[in-house]
Amino acid sequence: MVDADVIVVGAGPTGLMLASELRLAGVRPLVLERQPARRDTPKAGGLGGQILQLLDYRGLLERFEAACTDPVPAPRFPFGGVHLDLTRLTDPPMRALPLPQPMLERLLEERAGELGVDIDRGHEVAGVSQDDGAVIVDVRGPDGPYRVTSHYLVGCDGARSRVRDRAGIPFPGTTYPEVNRLAQITLPDTVAVLGNGDLDVPGFGVIPAGFTRTDRGLLGVGATPTSKVVSLYTIEDETTEYDDDTPMTVAELQGSVRRVLGADLPLGEPLRLSRFTFKARQAERYRDGRILLAGDAAHLFPATGVALNAGMLDAVNLAWKLAADVHGWAPAGLLDTYHDERQLAGARTMLHTQAQVALRRGHDPAAEALRQVLQELLVDEQPLRRMGALVAGSDTRYAMPGANPHALAGTFAADLTLHTDRGTTTVAELMHTARPLLLDLADRPELRERAQSWRQRVEVHTAQCDDRPADALLIRPDAHIAWAATIDEPADSAGPALREALSGWFGTP
Ligand SMILES: Cc1cc2nc3c(=O)[nH]c(=O)nc-3n(C[C@H](O)[C@H](O)[C@H](O)COP(=O)(O)OP(=O)(O)OC[C@H]3O[C@@H](n4cnc5c(N)ncnc54)[C@H](O)[C@@H]3O)c2cc1C
Repeated sequence: MVDADVIVVGAGPTGLMLASELRLAGVRPLVLERQPARRDTPKAGGLGGQILQLLDYRGLLERFEAACTDPVPAPRFPFGGVHLDLTRLTDPPMRALPLPQPMLERLLEERAGELGVDIDRGHEVAGVSQDDGAVIVDVRGPDGPYRVTSHYLVGCDGARSRVRDRAGIPFPGTTYPEVNRLAQITLPDTVAVLGNGDLDVPGFGVIPAGFTRTDRGLLGVGATPTSKVVSLYTIEDETTEYDDDTPMTVAELQGSVRRVLGADLPLGEPLRLSRFTFKARQAERYRDGRILLAGDAAHLFPATGVALNAGMLDAVNLAWKLAADVHGWAPAGLLDTYHDERQLAGARTMLHTQAQVALRRGHDPAAEALRQVLQELLVDEQPLRRMGALVAGSDTRYAMPGANPHALAGTFAADLTLHTDRGTTTVAELMHTARPLLLDLADRPELRERAQSWRQRVEVHTAQCDDRPADALLIRPDAHIAWAATIDEPADSAGPALREALSGWFGTP
């Protein structure tokens, strides 16, 4: 007898998303978080990519949008020094929400609370081991150390994951020496902001607006004469390793400006201070027996704007598979597809973020030429669209079993407007409960009949839609298409293939 079916270590964005998805799938997780209270460290400034579509499929997007000052229909993305301007497209493949991470975590925690997730704060996982039947977890709680056991444990415990360490999962890759420091801060009256945004610093002279490159690094200044708040950004190559949870200080920023520019810039009160370093690392295995990894614990990418998307999508992919196992109907190998699919998605993100490193760190004329060539290409619609989909993480197609899968199999299901006997609905609306769906789009009774035995696990809807993409779609809870019937595919081939897909993903009835 174990204490919990699933223990989630860490209540960051990945752990909170996972806990909610597990609840939707009928599992009550135990969430252990070492911090005694929700943190307000200013990490990500926003959320973008395919996770926004998924949040829409859970009925959460409006709530998240309402918390933003100004949702961005399509971002301008700094792709390693190349300007990826997705606003040029009428239907851009990527959107973004300027939702600072503390607000994101508050919303995710609120949602988890509504679904009945309990978070044990101030409970730090000190040790993890496993045997054939259970995971054994040593915890340091507010009342002292204790031990709990579970069927599965997921390390959503961030970049320095102790779970990953204890499970002995290698985390190979590279740490880049760039340290980025970002601040919004007031200036004292002694520093004047000139009409063109330059800063006039007593005892030094003028610091120009925009970017200044020196042989020690880069300084960015964004200021207007009408405001005393200035944006400052420095990049330096340093060998010190920083913990993202250790707050940056004004003195640290001042030291960085001094090193880059050789100027002492007087500074006032900070509104936002953050520091980030870049690593390109990916866990060799996302699963080791009963222990799994998700989010930053599984991958670190060397560019901004993509990590939350990747981590929260890991959680969505994993939750229903873990739940299937806990409920006892998971087909053989289901849980292993978590590693296969999400490591592949991580590798795609790694590919473009490492390309960004090469673009960003190249300082010679050849690198400048490469940036320029790419910039020229990215004005055209097709390359821009493909790059947008790559950055959004929406071009990943999971491998689907079967001899000749449909072109849609493995892709993310598009939102369709569906006309049913009970009125008009959408794929997004039907996915709010995170249950698998069989959409019969061509009134094929023999396909509905085939799915009859899975009615406990799979919802079946008959609907009509304009430009139907297939005669039928089998959609997994993470919104990926498990199987599709080609238009007018004969019953004697569609029926058995559907049966195979149903048992391959949702077990024997
Ligand atoms: C300055 C900065 C800017 C960033 N900007 C962006 C951005 O624009 N876009 C983007 O997508 N990403 C950005 N990121 C990255 C993003 O913040 C992370 O990818 C994200 O926080 C990862 O979420 P996570 O839940 O996987 O891990 P974390 O957020 O690290 O959460 C891990 C949780 O586990 C807890 N924990 C750790 N060890 C234990 C233990 N032993 N026992 C119990 N609990 C434990 C921690 O306290 C923490 O709450 C930025 C990061 C930084 C630092």
